[in-house]
Amino acid sequence: MPVETNNKNSIKPPRWRQFGGSFLILLTLLLLLNFIVPSFFGPRLPQVPYSDFIVQVEAGKVDKAIVGSDRIEYVLKTETPDGEPTEQVLRTTPVAIDLDLPKILREHNVEFAAPPPDQNGWIGTILSWVVPPLIFFGIWGFLMNRQGGGPAALTVGKSKARISSDGSTGVKFTDVAGVDEAKVELEEIVDFLKSADKYTRLGAKIPKGALLVGPPGTGKTLLAKAIAGEAGVPFFSISGSEFIELFVGVGAARVRDLFEQAKKQAPCIVFIDELDALGKSRGGAGGFVGGNDEREQTLNQLLTEMDGFDANTGVIIIAATNRPEVLDPALRRPGRFDRQIVVDRPDKIGREAILKVHARNVKLADDVDLATIAIRTPGFAGADLANLVNEAALLAARQNRQAVIMADFNEAIERLIAGLEKRSRVLNETEKKTVAYHEVGHAIIGALMPGAGKVEKISVVPRGVGALGYTIQMPEEDRFLMIEDEIRGRIATLLGGRSAEEIIFGKVSTGASDDIQKATDLAERAITIYGMSDKLGPVAFEKVQQQFIEGYGNPRRSISPQVAEAIDREVKEILDNAHHIALTILQQNRDLLEETAQELLQKEILEGANLRERLQQAKAPDEMNEWLRSGKLSADQPLLQSILN
Ligand code: ADP
Ligand code: MG
Ligand code: ZN
Repeated sequence: MPVETNNKNSIKPPRWRQFGGSFLILLTLLLLLNFIVPSFFGPRLPQVPYSDFIVQVEAGKVDKAIVGSDRIEYVLKTETPDGEPTEQVLRTTPVAIDLDLPKILREHNVEFAAPPPDQNGWIGTILSWVVPPLIFFGIWGFLMNRQGGGPAALTVGKSKARISSDGSTGVKFTDVAGVDEAKVELEEIVDFLKSADKYTRLGAKIPKGALLVGPPGTGKTLLAKAIAGEAGVPFFSISGSEFIELFVGVGAARVRDLFEQAKKQAPCIVFIDELDALGKSRGGAGGFVGGNDEREQTLNQLLTEMDGFDANTGVIIIAATNRPEVLDPALRRPGRFDRQIVVDRPDKIGREAILKVHARNVKLADDVDLATIAIRTPGFAGADLANLVNEAALLAARQNRQAVIMADFNEAIERLIAGLEKRSRVLNETEKKTVAYHEVGHAIIGALMPGAGKVEKISVVPRGVGALGYTIQMPEEDRFLMIEDEIRGRIATLLGGRSAEEIIFGKVSTGASDDIQKATDLAERAITIYGMSDKLGPVAFEKVQQQFIEGYGNPRRSISPQVAEAIDREVKEILDNAHHIALTILQQNRDLLEETAQELLQKEILEGANLRERLQQAKAPDEMNEWLRSGKLSADQPLLQSILN
């Protein structure tokens, strides 16, 4: 039976909830008691008007009186109906302070006294001492419950790790797909834990730590859960940010506590998610932000703990991060997180496998081809694919379909890369026309340029945050390198929209700003990072992120003003050339541009065979091939997104 228990040292919220609840109940009871008790025990005497009392005194009928400041109880001499003398105890409430009363009483020989200390007074006294603090605690407890956590001050220094015994995460290796290399390595770790002596007998040291590195959403956390599910050993999981609190020193105490518990439970796995939250390079932004002390102390404690236990105690630490470049180098030293396991974005086959995992619980129609979906989703991580399957299922449900069809998946893909359709954003005629020519401009250039994939769809239905229209280009395969001519082609495609506007309307709109931004970025990268400029040579002018963080501030290498100027000139030249090519192509294909744009205006969306046939008519001028001709290899940027606005 899978059980999930809270670490015994942490305060359990439910207990607090009860605690706070009983406080409130107790409080109410005491308050009620306060009112009930006196009236319960106090004598219930007939009440007499004060004037009657005075009359009775003056008539000599009163024997004794107990005179309090707010009530007077007295014994009245009367007779029973049969004439027998008897006594009756009565009560009256005095008016203001009657200073004459003692005199009157004495004159009429009444025996009188002040009341004895109130019988029920002690309850009142105690209540007056007890109730205010109780109210305070009650409110406090109530607020604590509402926040859903225990009182922070009491858990300081205790690790917040959640411990789960075998299998309780409910995740198995079969739930993780498309990251086979990582899985093989992790299976080995599971094997270490299951049969440690197999390794120690030969004198092999079990690795102490493994670091899962990869972009967000690729399944690092999922993999760690799968290890717990498979290993059948206790599994402590905590997030890096949970170590860091307001108070300096708390994080370090938590680390110590966590390791103490882990050692007691060995063999076991400690999983630290989002390690970068605590393992950031020491000194990086030091002194400037301030308050790094806490993180540094915590990190130091972690390093100490990792050194402090013997490799074969059977505690294995697995950490995950999507920012390995900011981690302190000391963490990656052998003997600490000496194994780095890369969990990368899945390739086409991996994506298909992940889609299969997530489609297990979804009813698919016969026309759904997961392999095709995998082709159409380059750059999607596992989390994106999970989201995609869910979006498609939601769309199908909204249409009351019996099963999810391929069209749902296509729409879901578009939603994920371009945002939701916004038919409510109404464009006027001029705007619509501008957008139509702009998009067709992208499409025609895109269809002719090498390596960018085929144009699948053009639309003038606004989508997402800013897109008034869009063109979708889908790569036919996963690409991990961009060749120089592809970069140029890409830049020309980006500028195609604006070029079409220039040719047709003779002036440009603001709609091309995003294209221009992207084109300029790409051109600058080509020169400063990929070393593609003949004039400047294979020199890197940008520092990659790690160097940027370890050094101070400036992302650019220090360069002379002349070189800076040369860079700017080269960037501009690339852009100018691309612009020129885009204009040339569109001028040569002007008829096609006109016809296609008019059809787009009518239909709003062009896609499929119709669009393909049209774009096949586009002719490349000789000039273009000359411009593209160049064979240098380059860029390490995968082609992730192919959407043009
Ligand atoms: P991260 O790498 O950021 O920790 P997660 O492990 O939290 O990513 O992944 C989030 C979700 O995405 C998972 O719960 C799972 O549904 C899905 N997912 C991510 N990667 C994979 C994968 N390789 N196989 C199957 N599902 C995946
Ligand atoms: Mg994660
Ligand atoms: Zn555009």
